Amino acid sequence: MTWNEQYEPVIGLEVHCQLLTKSKAFCSCSTKFGNEPNSNVCPVCLGMPGVLPVLNKQVVEFTIKMGLATHCSVSPKSILARKNYFYPDLPKGYQISQYEEPICTKGFVEIEFEDGKKKTIGITRIHMEEDAGKSIHDLDIDTLVDVNRCGVPLIEIVSEPDIRSPHEAYLYLHKIRQVVTYLEICDGNMEQGSLRCDANVSVRKKGETKFGTKTEVKNMNSFRFVEKALEYEINRQIELIENDGKVAQETLLWDANQGIAISMRSKEEAHDYRYFPEPDLVPVLVNQDWIDNVKATLPEFPSERRDRYVRELKLPRYDADVLTTEKALADYFEGVVNHLGKKNDETYKLASNWTMTDVLRVVKDRHIEVSDFPIPPRYLSEMIDLILDGTISGKIAKDVFEEMLTSKEPPKSIVEKKGLMQVSDTGAIEKVIDEILANNKEQVEKYRAGKSQVFGFFVGEVMKAMKGKGNPKVVNEILRKKLEK
Ligand SMILES: [Zn+2]
Repeated sequence: MTWNEQYEPVIGLEVHCQLLTKSKAFCSCSTKFGNEPNSNVCPVCLGMPGVLPVLNKQVVEFTIKMGLATHCSVSPKSILARKNYFYPDLPKGYQISQYEEPICTKGFVEIEFEDGKKKTIGITRIHMEEDAGKSIHDLDIDTLVDVNRCGVPLIEIVSEPDIRSPHEAYLYLHKIRQVVTYLEICDGNMEQGSLRCDANVSVRKKGETKFGTKTEVKNMNSFRFVEKALEYEINRQIELIENDGKVAQETLLWDANQGIAISMRSKEEAHDYRYFPEPDLVPVLVNQDWIDNVKATLPEFPSERRDRYVRELKLPRYDADVLTTEKALADYFEGVVNHLGKKNDETYKLASNWTMTDVLRVVKDRHIEVSDFPIPPRYLSEMIDLILDGTISGKIAKDVFEEMLTSKEPPKSIVEKKGLMQVSDTGAIEKVIDEILANNKEQVEKYRAGKSQVFGFFVGEVMKAMKGKGNPKVVNEILRKKLEK
């Protein structure tokens, strides 16, 4: 990330999260993604005359959850308001949102840099609102409209202008994604649009306390684009100022194909939404009991979980960090730990290694979610037990793992069916070793003359002869004994 060092960017983010409720915010229509266009609709979400919206209680509950998780105050009384504008994908002509009295205010989250340093980013407000529909432009015919998304519940999380670089914005967005997915109130999928991010960006000379003129950058629909788009906009503004120009207050759309931000509207064309309290809905009242009940359902958060893994399972900090980035992964890992036959620091570390490397590798390669990973945690524990009791070697375990991925059978039956049991029988191993030593007299002499590297050659030969099933510990012991005669 580079820009003229005499300047300092000032960034605030507005993040929209689609809530994981089954029905919409003000009617009983399904929120299911990917249904046939214009099938999840009713007179309420289409805004027909005479209909009355009814607020979905879970929307309020999810918003309170997010508020509590980000240290916000939850207002005992908040107001739903109409945000009026015309757009083809908004048949009602307005969105129900919150304006003057949002439900959650004045919170914060902590972001953590790669070197462990932390920074607090303030949250101005979190409010509830409903989504608009979708215009589909990329078909060969005219633009089409799908209103399935009309009325799907969202929360908007507005940060303070505390962010000072595109990388901080990236970390903040990751943090928000981690919190909403841990709370299980949003799936956090940016590519599918369930997490969306707009940015307010300005620059000022370092040391200056007044903010510069800000622009709004929209349409950054992946984590990578957020950093790119912000860097572009920061450089554009600095260049303007350096060339005696002025930054105009405007809204820009990020065009990922061209790598530039395109002006969408200037301040003069800015919307005046004419907010007013929604006349069809009563104020949202939240009492302390409700807040306490929601508080009791909050999960253990990533940093708490990470510290517990380090403290109780004696995992390295690095392992604990990786395992807790995503709730589903941490849940998977704990599933493995819970099913282990022997529970001690050694087995916890093995469970961590297999989860971090092998499970994550498959998840990445196959572009799947951890929740869709085909091997159940208890099979992985069973496999680790088999390694520990000497039934299979760590090397054979890799084959068993691959086999579990395709056959979805428990490791024990794979090992039995394929005859993968490790041979620990000293008699059998001794026989193989004697034969190999007899066939490689020259190498034996070399070893005995002090060329100790030859040892590896013998281990390899024995393993090859035993098709990888010799217990490495026993093989090593017997080999050493025989060679040192
Ligand atoms: Zn509806």
